[in-house]
Amino acid sequence: MAVSKKRILFIIMDGMGDRACPELGGKTPLQAVDTPNIDWFVSKGNSGIMDVISPGIRPGSDTAHLSLLGYNAKEVYTGRGPFEAAGIGLIGRKGDVAFRCNFGTVDSDLNILDRRAGRIKAPDTTELVRSLSDIMIKGVEVTVREGTEHRAALLLRGPGLSSLVTDADPHDTAKVLESKPLVPEAALTAEVLNEFVRISYERMKDHPVNRKRREAGLPEANILLPRGAGSFPDIDPFPQVNGMSAACVAGVGMIKGICGVCGLDVIDLPPACTGGSDTDMILKTRIALETLEHYDFVLMNFKAPDVCGHDMMYAKKMEVIRKADVAAKYLRENMPEDMVVVFTADHSTPSTTGDHTGDPVPLTIYTDGMIQDDAEEYSEYGCAKGRLGRIRGHDLLPICMDLANRSEKFGA
Ligand code: ZN
Ligand code: ZN
Repeated sequence: MAVSKKRILFIIMDGMGDRACPELGGKTPLQAVDTPNIDWFVSKGNSGIMDVISPGIRPGSDTAHLSLLGYNAKEVYTGRGPFEAAGIGLIGRKGDVAFRCNFGTVDSDLNILDRRAGRIKAPDTTELVRSLSDIMIKGVEVTVREGTEHRAALLLRGPGLSSLVTDADPHDTAKVLESKPLVPEAALTAEVLNEFVRISYERMKDHPVNRKRREAGLPEANILLPRGAGSFPDIDPFPQVNGMSAACVAGVGMIKGICGVCGLDVIDLPPACTGGSDTDMILKTRIALETLEHYDFVLMNFKAPDVCGHDMMYAKKMEVIRKADVAAKYLRENMPEDMVVVFTADHSTPSTTGDHTGDPVPLTIYTDGMIQDDAEEYSEYGCAKGRLGRIRGHDLLPICMDLANRSEKFGA
């Protein structure tokens, strides 16, 4: 008899793992907060702890998410640049080179007067970016997309490109730099980049937006300053690799970028899903459930715990945990039966260190009809009692695929 395939929901509570807080009598924020709803999933599911990359390795959110999506992060990762570009909608493919950019203010000798053009923002940046469309240099297609405030991203697409070039942005109020190739094969890329910087100045220096800014006494945004070249990684699309349609529900640009580059559909979220600690977690959970009506796999990311960890605010992290538990209640009451649900984190961001650490993260996998284990409480300590033991991040997806009746048999 054929068993029916289940849908899979990953709930990634970014940076949720923590260490013993002296203020909490040696407990972690997860241990200190009562989470009856997440604990319901723990008591019915299987738990364990997980080294998202491998033991002791401190993951970035980008490499961690690659690992959770089943990729070997050490093989496919080419730097953060491409994911940041993808996060604002510039989703490239293998061979494309992406840069982060600032709108800057320069004088006619290209001396930088302000590296952020007075922290210019939309709608001015929207109009300026529009003036940079349709640029083709030496057979290379150039695309610019605006980011938040004075930030933008640049994508080069064409044969023979390389990310091994130096920045045009001097990262200081100095003269705009000529980009240089770091290897002979990168000569074309440096040439295209330098030509693009010149074109950006030519097209923007007398743009109506800048004429208006000049009259208002504001710094003009008359140049784009590219930095941080990165090649788009060669990643086989997640839906093809795993035979599942897949989407991501995330508020943060970089997470959206990683998922987009891996071939997941990036769902547009309402402004209430901010990606900060004020985000509406119930609304996000509702959107994830609605998305699962059309997709086999959804990755949902809550950024808030990571923000609290970086700010070293254990009390705020506890507040976020309470909110996550209310969202888990909503999930419990509204989810369909044929689901595999995962509660985990992409890495630990302890409130005592203020940055990511290599500590393993708590993990719970729930689906209907699992063998019971001894874990009862969702925390770094409580999950360690479960029967999943200690696994690595890239093992998570195969385990879930198996529970979802979606795995291919290995052998006869
Ligand atoms: Zn993270
Ligand atoms: Zn972080």
